[in-house]
Amino acid sequence: MMNRTLLVTGGAGYIGSHTLLALIAAGYRPVVLDNYSNSVPEVLRRVQQLSGVPIEFVEGDIRDGKLLDGLFQRKAQDGSPVECVVHFAALKAVGESVANPLAYYDNNVGGTTTLLSAMDRAQVRHLVFSSSATVYGEPIELPYSEQHRIAPTNPYGWTKAMVEQVLKDWAATGEARRAVALRYFNPIGAHASGVLGEAPQGTPNNLFPFITQVAVGKREKLMVFGDDYDTVDGTGVRDYLHVEDLADGHVRAVQYAGQAAEPFSAINLGTGRGTSVLQLVRAFEQASGKTIACTMQPRRPGDIASAWADPALAYRLLGWKAERSIEQMCADGWRWQSQNPDGYGG
Ligand code: NAD
Ligand code: UDP
Repeated sequence: MMNRTLLVTGGAGYIGSHTLLALIAAGYRPVVLDNYSNSVPEVLRRVQQLSGVPIEFVEGDIRDGKLLDGLFQRKAQDGSPVECVVHFAALKAVGESVANPLAYYDNNVGGTTTLLSAMDRAQVRHLVFSSSATVYGEPIELPYSEQHRIAPTNPYGWTKAMVEQVLKDWAATGEARRAVALRYFNPIGAHASGVLGEAPQGTPNNLFPFITQVAVGKREKLMVFGDDYDTVDGTGVRDYLHVEDLADGHVRAVQYAGQAAEPFSAINLGTGRGTSVLQLVRAFEQASGKTIACTMQPRRPGDIASAWADPALAYRLLGWKAERSIEQMCADGWRWQSQNPDGYGG
C-alpha cells in the first residue's frame, strides 16, 4: 500500500527545496529534517507559498539517532509511515573538506550510517542519495559512464564514494532494501518563479552563483580559473543541468526505489553536454543583458579540464532526461538573483 510519506533530509537546501516542490506536485507528502547549518527557515516558508500546502518540518541533525527514532515512530503511529528517505543532508564545500576532513566524514558518512540504523529500527527500506560526479575523479574516458572507475580527489568526494559503498552493502543485506545513488553533475539555475534559488553563504565556490553575483553588482568580476585547458576555448568544461530537471529526477528515483530489481543502483544525472566557463558566461550575458567582467587566473588546484555525463542509464532505469536548456538555466538563475539580491536574507 502506498501512503507516499517521505523523509527529506536537507530539504531546506538548494536542491532539496526545489525537489520538495516536485515531490509535492507528484502527490508525495514530504517531512523535512534539516539542522539549518547551510540554510534558513525562509526557504520552507517559500516552498509552502509556492506549493500551497503546509510542510511538516523537524529542526535537527541526521546524526541524532533518538530524534530519528521519534520521527519515524510518530509517522508510523499517525498511520503515515515513511516509505522512502530522500537524503540530501551533507556538507558540500570541497576546500573546506580538505581543511577539515573529519567534519566531512562525521557529517556525511557518520550521519548516513546513523540514518540507516534508524531506518532499520523503523523498517524503512528505501533511500535515494545525493551522490556526485566528483566520485569519478580524473576522467579516463568521457562521457563518464557509471562503470567509470571511482577515484575522488578530495575528502568531500571520498565521503560520497564511501556512502555509496555503505549503501551497496546495506541494501545487499536483503529484506527488500533499496538504495539509489544519484550522481549529480553541475546543478545550476533556479525555480522558474524566481522565488527559490541558490543562496551560498559568503563567497561562492561554484561558478554559476559567482556569475550571478557579479551580474547583480555584489562582486566586481569573475575569476576564470584557467584558460589553457585542452578544451574548445581553453576554459574548463562541465555538464550543467537545471535544478528543476534534477528535482524531477528525484521523483523518478523515489518511484524507481519502490520497484527496482537491483538492491543498489548508481545513476548519473546530467545532460550529456559540456559547456565551457566562457560559453556559460556568454549565455548568461545574453539572458540577463548584463556584462560579466572576467579576469583570467591560474588553474584552480584539483580541477579537471572536462566532465560530462553519459545519461543513458537514467533514461533506461528512471525514464528521465534533462529537458531544460542552458539559456533557461541562465534566465531562471538571473530572475532569482535579480529579485533576491541578498538571497533569502533580502
Ligand atoms: P545545501 O547545503 O544547500 O543543502 C544541504 C542541506 O542539508 C542544508 O539545508 C543543510 O542545512 C542541511 N544539513 C547539512 N548537514 C546536516 C545534518 N547533519 N543534519 C541535518 N541537516 C543537515 O546543498 P545542495 O547544493 O542542496 O546539495 C544537496 C546534496 O547534493 C548534498 O548532499 C550535496 O553534497 C549533493 N550535491 C550537490 C551538488 C551541487 O553542485 N550543489 C553536486 C553534487 C552533489
Ligand atoms: N570556475 C571558475 N571561476 C570560479 C568558479 C569556478 O572559472 O569562480 C570554473 C572551474 O574551474 C570549473 C567550472 O568553473 O572549470 C565549474 O566549477 P564549479 O566549482 O562550479 O564546479 P566543479 O568544478 O565542482 O565541477
